[in-house]
Amino acid sequence: MTADTIPVITIDGPSGTGKGTVTHMLARSLHWHMLDSGAIYRLLAYLAERDAVSSEDVSTLTTLAEQMNAHFRATAPGESEIWVDGVEVSSLIRTETMGNMASQVSKHAKVREALVACQRAYQRAPGLVTDGRDMGTVIFPEANLKLFLTAEPEERARRRLKQLQQQGIHANLDEILTEQHARDARDQARVVAPLKPADDAVIIDTTLLNSQEVFVMVRGIVHERLSV
Ligand code: C5P
Repeated sequence: MTADTIPVITIDGPSGTGKGTVTHMLARSLHWHMLDSGAIYRLLAYLAERDAVSSEDVSTLTTLAEQMNAHFRATAPGESEIWVDGVEVSSLIRTETMGNMASQVSKHAKVREALVACQRAYQRAPGLVTDGRDMGTVIFPEANLKLFLTAEPEERARRRLKQLQQQGIHANLDEILTEQHARDARDQARVVAPLKPADDAVIIDTTLLNSQEVFVMVRGIVHERLSV
C-alpha cells in the first residue's frame, strides 16, 4: 500500500461536538491509526509557554513547530500519553488555557505549514482516522470520507463543564460559553485553514446524541461508503 492508497477518514468540527471520542471509537473499531491534530497545536502552545515565546512571534513559533519532538504512546484502548522533549504532558495540554493558546498560535500560516508534514506522516496502513479543524479541507483533501460534527453552543459548553467537573476542576458555564465563543470566532475567521466543513463533508449534528449514538451513526456511514 502506498501512502496515496492508505484510507483516511477525517472528522472535523469545533470542540465539544464529540469528535475526539468518536475518532477514538472509530479508530479502535477499525484497528486503524488515529491523529489528534488539536494535541499538536496544544503541544506547540505548551512549548511556547515553557520558552516564554509570544503567540505573535511567528518566526520563533515556526522554529519550535519545525523542531517539535512529539510522541503519542498508546497506553490502553482509546487512551494515549503525549510526550514532548522527554516530558509527559497529556493532562497539562488539556486545560482551557492551553486550548485558547493553541488557537492563538495556530492562526499563523507559517506555523501551520511547518506542521503539515508531521500530520501527513500519520497516514499509515491499514488506515487513519483523524480529528481537527482542517483535516478534510487542507491536510487530507483526498480523504476517502470527510465528516464534520456540529452541536448547539450551549450543549457543547455543558459537555465541557461536565468533563471539567469530572476532573475535579471548578468551572462556570457562562465563562466556558464566553471562551468557547471567542475560540470559535478566532478559528472560523482566520485566513489560513479556517474551521469550516469541506464541500464534500457529511455534516452531523450531535446536539441530541450521546457518544454511542454518534459512533453507531458514523460507523454506519463508514461501512456504507468504504465497505469496511
Ligand atoms: O481540538 P482542540 O480543542 O484540541 O484544538 C485546540 C485548538 O487548536 C483549536 O481551537 C484550534 O485553534 C487549533 N487547531 C487547529 N487545527 C486543527 C486542530 C486544532 O487550528 N487541525
